Amino acid sequence: MGEVNPPPYNRREMHPTLRHHPLDVRLRHVFRIARGASDVRHNLIVEAEAEGRIGIGEAAPILRYGEDRASAARAVDEMAARLGDARAFGVAARRAAVAGQSSAEAAVDMALHDLAGQRLQAPLYEILGLDPSDTPQTSFTIGMDTPDVVVAKVREAAEYPVLKVKMGSDDDRAVLEAVRDTTDRPLRVDANEGWTPAGALERLEWLARLGVEFVEQPLPAAMIAETRELRRQSPLPLYADESVHRAADIPALAGAFDGINIKLMKCGGIAEALRMIAVARAHGMKIMLGCMIESSVAITAAAHLSPLVDTADLDGNLLLESDPYVGAKVVAGRIVLPEGPGLGVRARA
Ligand code: MG
Repeated sequence: MGEVNPPPYNRREMHPTLRHHPLDVRLRHVFRIARGASDVRHNLIVEAEAEGRIGIGEAAPILRYGEDRASAARAVDEMAARLGDARAFGVAARRAAVAGQSSAEAAVDMALHDLAGQRLQAPLYEILGLDPSDTPQTSFTIGMDTPDVVVAKVREAAEYPVLKVKMGSDDDRAVLEAVRDTTDRPLRVDANEGWTPAGALERLEWLARLGVEFVEQPLPAAMIAETRELRRQSPLPLYADESVHRAADIPALAGAFDGINIKLMKCGGIAEALRMIAVARAHGMKIMLGCMIESSVAITAAAHLSPLVDTADLDGNLLLESDPYVGAKVVAGRIVLPEGPGLGVRARA
């Protein structure tokens, strides 16, 4: 084999064509949280094509914030019309974004990062200068249900070393006690804004006695002052999810929460997630990387950032009946990043 000269770096502007197609992701179990239940989610796959390469991204529209697949698709079309030079993959999606459509922004942002990685022939984590051996474990989420069903789900999830249990029903205490009787694995709890200030402290106290590690979003998103008061007495760390979207939200949360849950769909993509990580660290806060119900496209995009965070809850793809894509994997509970350039995601054969 002779020596191969590397191809010259292409310095011409890059203006990808954006297109999208629907992706329905079906869940193995009906997934119930404090706000509602569903067994299928209507996501959107975005492709960015330039120079013979195709970058891929995914939007999982968040109904709570007025997004759905149709609004995300319209937003991607608008972004396509005003997308600038995509060699600036760290800022191009933000500059073209449609206000209030963060999941579409995230999908385009991921696709542009994927395209950049293919162009530079390096995995995204390498472009970000991260060590893939620093990835954390991911928790596996158990939706709300009766104690019997929850216990069955906990047994089914035997391969995952950390569990996150959704709360917010009248059965909460019976459910958590049944889970604790079934397993001694670390447990985290997500209340999804389902508690009131009056009952929250008592719940935190018995959850602490059950050995729960921390509680996510106990009170409604806007109740920052109430959460600050609750944290003064709380025996458990509190994490913000619905209370935090972007980096600019974080300073006001310092002292009210011990940590934040970053999701690409809330913040609009990888560059903003990196800013959130920096701002949260500057305020001494812990960081969890979370997700919506997503295929391996969006999960893998987030996974490339996971070497920077304390804990991950990147299980959206693991909850699916079938996942049309292959990317980051979970091996013995820990995230393993793919080796390919960009996101390293491919269609499942
Ligand atoms: Mg949450």
